[in-house]
Amino acid sequence: MEELQQALSAMGEAKFRAAQIYDWLHRCGVREFSRMSNLPKALRERLDSEYMITVMEPAEIYVSRIDGTRKYVFALSDGNAIEAVLMRYKHGNSVCISSQVGCRMGCRFCASTLDGCVRDLSAAEMLAEVYRIGEDTGERVSNVVLMGSGEPMDNYDEVCRFLRMITDERGLHISARNITVSTCGIPDRIRQLAGEGLPVTLALSLHAPTQEKREEIMPAAKVWHLPEVLAACRYYYERTGRRLSFEYSVVKGVNDTRDNAAALADLLNREGFGGSDRRKGGREGMCHVNLIPVNPIEEREYESPDRRTVEAFQQVLIQNGINATIRREMGRDISSACGQLRRRYIRA
Ligand code: SAH
Repeated sequence: MEELQQALSAMGEAKFRAAQIYDWLHRCGVREFSRMSNLPKALRERLDSEYMITVMEPAEIYVSRIDGTRKYVFALSDGNAIEAVLMRYKHGNSVCISSQVGCRMGCRFCASTLDGCVRDLSAAEMLAEVYRIGEDTGERVSNVVLMGSGEPMDNYDEVCRFLRMITDERGLHISARNITVSTCGIPDRIRQLAGEGLPVTLALSLHAPTQEKREEIMPAAKVWHLPEVLAACRYYYERTGRRLSFEYSVVKGVNDTRDNAAALADLLNREGFGGSDRRKGGREGMCHVNLIPVNPIEEREYESPDRRTVEAFQQVLIQNGINATIRREMGRDISSACGQLRRRYIRA
């Protein structure tokens, strides 16, 4: 809004025009200046010749017959493509968006990173992902997760700008509590985010109980070591009061044993994230572990463990005072995400 006010005053226009335009863009979702009917015609024409409104055009939409999950491939104006997903839950509609075209973090099991990072997405493009999906379904989006392609902390400024605008009461006004930012773990950025006054949920992609094992799966772990990452997470909790979510992609024969689970519980308890049994009057833990059976990609040999292995892993965590759930797979009949849709589309 402030940027818009400045731009308008530089054009010699009244300040209140900014609020009108903001409303058209972020509440009404208009895609042409010509439709901003409360602006003088001359201003509409001038805006049209000097500015452009970022829009997202779906190139492909896949709809699950099982649970109504919708997966979108969006074609960008520069010829790139990204993907986003809508998931329907009892508590509302959740949209998973991309923050970059590709990713440079190199996680071994992830398809988004296979061709590296092409570019960052702008705040406008991230907003347009959410707006377009809301428009397409005609339903309110109540939750947003930054868990699509890209590393949000590697596009920090635009991601924060996006977060301020999506939570803005003059726009979609999604509560920060209903937003999750997922990161491979960049300590300085986690600390910085803690001070932004945006109490979003932080999800850390942990994936391994030890530094050594983590490096094997996530090259980024060689740069940002586990003790520093976890210290930053603790700081995030202290500053924001938000419980952390630890993502753990379970890979057959790589990080899926009971010993791995016991080591993970040990690590989290040692680092102060655990909680004792609430039924026995203990305090609730500072974290929640989200187990994600890995979604195999054709470029890598990683396989998903069977259900019983994942359940046994979960039980070991719970028995050791760590909250843990298994991520429900959605849109099974339209499988492939985490960068796979985009790759398929680009190749075709
Ligand atoms: N770069 C951020 C956010 C994008 S990835 C991050 O690392 O958190 C979002 C989550 O999906 C991460 O936890 C990531 O590890 C996980 N993920 C990516 N590809 C996956 C796959 N093929 N199977 C299971 N989880 C995957």
